Amino acid sequence: MVLVEQAFIKNSAISISKFPKDLPEKVFTKVSEGIMVTDLQKRIVHVNPAFELVTGYDREEVLGLSPKVLQSGIHAQDFYQKMWEKMNTDGEWSGEIWNRRKNGEIYPEWLNITAITDDKGIVRNYCGIFSDLTDRKSSEDELKKMALTDSLTGASNRYDFTERMQQLIKTSKKYELSHALLFLDLDRFKQINDSLGHDMGDLLLMNVADRIKGLLKNKDILARYGGDEFVVALTAIKHPREAANMAEKIIEVLETPFQLAGEEIYISTSIGISLYPIDGMTLDDMLRKADKAMYFAKQNGRNQYCFYFEDLKTASKRLVLMEAELRKAIENRSFNMHYQPKVDISTQQVTGFESLIRWESEKLGVVSPAEFIPFAEETGLIISLSEAIIESVCRDFVELNSKNSLNVPISINISSLHFQQANFVASLKAIFEKMNCRPSFFELELTEHTIMENVAETTVKLHELRDLGFSIAVDDFGTGYSSLSYLSRFPIDQLKVDGSFVKEIVSIKENEFVVDAIINLAHSLRLTVVAEGVETTEQVELLEELGCDMIQGYIYSKAMAVEELPAFIEIWNIKQQERASI
Ligand code: C2E
Ligand code: CA
Ligand code: CA
Repeated sequence: MVLVEQAFIKNSAISISKFPKDLPEKVFTKVSEGIMVTDLQKRIVHVNPAFELVTGYDREEVLGLSPKVLQSGIHAQDFYQKMWEKMNTDGEWSGEIWNRRKNGEIYPEWLNITAITDDKGIVRNYCGIFSDLTDRKSSEDELKKMALTDSLTGASNRYDFTERMQQLIKTSKKYELSHALLFLDLDRFKQINDSLGHDMGDLLLMNVADRIKGLLKNKDILARYGGDEFVVALTAIKHPREAANMAEKIIEVLETPFQLAGEEIYISTSIGISLYPIDGMTLDDMLRKADKAMYFAKQNGRNQYCFYFEDLKTASKRLVLMEAELRKAIENRSFNMHYQPKVDISTQQVTGFESLIRWESEKLGVVSPAEFIPFAEETGLIISLSEAIIESVCRDFVELNSKNSLNVPISINISSLHFQQANFVASLKAIFEKMNCRPSFFELELTEHTIMENVAETTVKLHELRDLGFSIAVDDFGTGYSSLSYLSRFPIDQLKVDGSFVKEIVSIKENEFVVDAIINLAHSLRLTVVAEGVETTEQVELLEELGCDMIQGYIYSKAMAVEELPAFIEIWNIKQQERASI
């Protein structure tokens, strides 16, 4: 037993002085690890009961035989060669090895072999101690299965997705298959996570995954790729159109608000698409390109999809440049405000001016606010931009009033993201105090989407704004889905019919019906109605017939620089007097 004792001690931290004499014998017979001792010629000289149990061989059957009797045939010869090389240099080896039981079954074991030396340090025997890994292996399989799915959403995880895609790509060349990769990133997910908490964020991700799963066919793969990133692989597609259709469907299916734990949550997604094999022959290539396209979709205003295209680099460069230019513009106030009149349809009097930002960048030329305002919202620049805009409008107002030329309110467009800030009302109040302006001379334009996003908070804020003296107009009305009951409870003064209805109001009957309905609705709520984007006299006549109160549009004037306003007002008044005298 001294051999086993030596091996045992070598394999454990127990010191020999504390070792009871009969312990090795007891350990030898009782342990669940199989133990096998050979002589220098590698003939088996001892085995323990656990050895018999694991291998199925009786002690008598194997004594004198080579351990090769247990070899499974799985390992190549150099495996054993390396094992013995290590034995000869280090005196021990341990590792996972597949062996064969007497009944032919192959099983994995963890084997530790130690060279046993005599008093003079000369190797006399080898001792192998092994444990059966079969059970552990099957639970590892279980773990592996668990490791393939994303535990939160039940979609595949990154590992599984990579394996499956690589497998797919391997066979695709031979069969000339095409695939599309859709890379999705939820818009403003971080905001939801931060404001409503991670539990709500998780709940939202689960629901998003469920809605997307509902759109996919069996052969398609949905995987969660990171926090709020998902990838969808559409396999064996016949035309890129299929990818575009799917992207549209995903965007649409996420448009319906989520009802989670009593809250109504809105989310949208930006999607980038790459195609196999046109855009890339490897998964890495496809992922990289789909990601780039997604980034572009996001920078370009979110809630849309974009295919990868070669000029993406130049397009992305423009966005990088725009961010830097916009930062500079905010810092240096190198933008200015223009003003477009609102005209009373029956009296033809100017009843107000809407302020609209104008920006000409040194490096990009004139950039439309329809492009850079959503971009500023995406990049987080909007808050400082929005505050700078409000200050500029106040400054212009003070300037105009010093010449005593303005006696109608000025409207200011308020970015959705700015309005949603917890300190929005306070920040607005601070600016107006600093600029020495009375809020009652101003009107705030909030889009229908903005006020319907978080109804409870909106109500509080609108009342606070009203208390400060501001009037409120609902902008782009008709493009969202207002709840009438809220609309009647919000303290608002004006609805602005979205220009898209006005544009074809004369030629498309449905548009006339919509505008008619909005006007009736507004009047029953005691709100005034402004039609925007009016360009022709036919439109004015029809709008007047429908009972619209005010008109805004190129038919009267484009937005003008502040210096042009006094002259405009003067000429307008002269024309008014002429009209009155006719
Ligand atoms: P909006 O608030 O709906 O502004 C009306 C847009 O229609 C303006 O475009 C205006 O110039 C344009 N418009 C006015 N009359 C006509 C017309 O007869 N025909 C046509 N085709 N267009 C007309 P603009 O200035 O390019 O602004 C686009 C959008 O950018 C605005 O839509 C608003 O959402 C945003 N925006 C503009 N200025 C500001 C600002 O100072 N702050 C914020 N937060 N957003 C702004
Ligand atoms: Ca507006
Ligand atoms: Ca509008």
